[in-house]
Amino acid sequence: MGKPTTALNEQLGAGDLRPAPARRLNPAELKIDILCSGIRIGESFQVVGEGRPLVRTRAGLGSGLEMVIPGRPRDVWVNAPVVESFAARSRYLLQNDGKSWALLDESAGHRYPVSLAPKPQWYDRRTSGGALMSRIATLQGTCLSIYIGETCRFWSPEHPLNCKFCTTGLNVGRDEEAEKSVQDVVETALAAKAESGVTFVHFNSGYQGARGLTKVFPYVEAVKSLVGLLVGVQFIPEQDFTQYDTAIRLGVDHFSFCFEFYNIDYFRRYLPGKTTILGRDIFLRAMEYTSRKMGKGRVSGEIIAGIEPLQDTFRAIEYIVRAGAFPFVCIFRPLIGSQMENYPPPSYGDMLRVFQHVYRTCRNHNLPVGIAPNIKVSLSLQPDDTLYLSEGKARDRFYLAWMELLRSLMRPYFARRMRPRASNNQ
Ligand code: SF4
Repeated sequence: MGKPTTALNEQLGAGDLRPAPARRLNPAELKIDILCSGIRIGESFQVVGEGRPLVRTRAGLGSGLEMVIPGRPRDVWVNAPVVESFAARSRYLLQNDGKSWALLDESAGHRYPVSLAPKPQWYDRRTSGGALMSRIATLQGTCLSIYIGETCRFWSPEHPLNCKFCTTGLNVGRDEEAEKSVQDVVETALAAKAESGVTFVHFNSGYQGARGLTKVFPYVEAVKSLVGLLVGVQFIPEQDFTQYDTAIRLGVDHFSFCFEFYNIDYFRRYLPGKTTILGRDIFLRAMEYTSRKMGKGRVSGEIIAGIEPLQDTFRAIEYIVRAGAFPFVCIFRPLIGSQMENYPPPSYGDMLRVFQHVYRTCRNHNLPVGIAPNIKVSLSLQPDDTLYLSEGKARDRFYLAWMELLRSLMRPYFARRMRPRASNNQ
């Protein structure tokens, strides 16, 4: 891969290289800028020794420092890039004055108070089977993330077909257990619920072959029955959609489908395995099918912004929302060890436009966002982070008030979904 240059960035479609404005940023804007430019952690982080450890699991996107940016009406969580080379040039420096943490914007002179996400005490405990709990599951934001199954088959040493931005093949078995028993997962999820207040567990995987989705069923059943959490599943789509019916019967609350790029040329160029084995359309059909079955706002379409032309990212967002799903947009991060390690990260200006588009599209289609309790995503802006980007017009105020109402109406529903089923049968 070539070196990062402006020409390459423009060729990739990220043409707007304007830095963040000198004015003070709101929490969502700051999160966007941090995800685009990273932060420098300096010595204070090592000296004070607080916070969650930096870990690389699944595709590697969560390899940064977990932080919370305080704000009203909601705090915003961010996984700040720190180890990638672009972060060494960041305008943000993490500081500690002996009492609290802050990010200093050395260009504009602003100081943003932040806190480091605490390291869960259960990370250092072992399950009854002897596995370290932090190697079974990790907290990303407030969500419990668990990789299920063997290393993605696209990482075959003989015929590698892995997605070019991904590092899963370097991570599974390194920072996390290659095999996780159902009992290990249940014990870890119980600890995370009791001690970290987790409400949502996200089971994810790479390509596991046809009927790979069935591998997650025992975990879903056990967590629903014995732990009582909202369960999200992110697996490669199946040709046989009846498997989704089974998963829904077992209690899955949310599906997500990562088709990454809407522009078919970019899909083919950067996703050789997904192109050769599956094709883009199966991702879209599976998203539409599950969205129809489960209802509006229960499914996500996941894409990466900062590689394909912005207009294609906008089209993808509209497509996903029209299907009744959430647009979950990840800001491209050139991960160390990936084939795209030397690509430039996207610009703040472009990514701000992307998330303004997410907000407006969700609002225009009355998509309810941020309704489930205590789900804070750190890897990218979830649609309810983008509420900070609202323009404050009457239409925006109506949308925000409507969601506030939905949140209180839906509380009993989510309480039921988070009750262990086993306790209902006693
Ligand atoms: S499908 Fe692609 S992104 Fe997902 S684990 Fe496999 S190579 Fe990585």
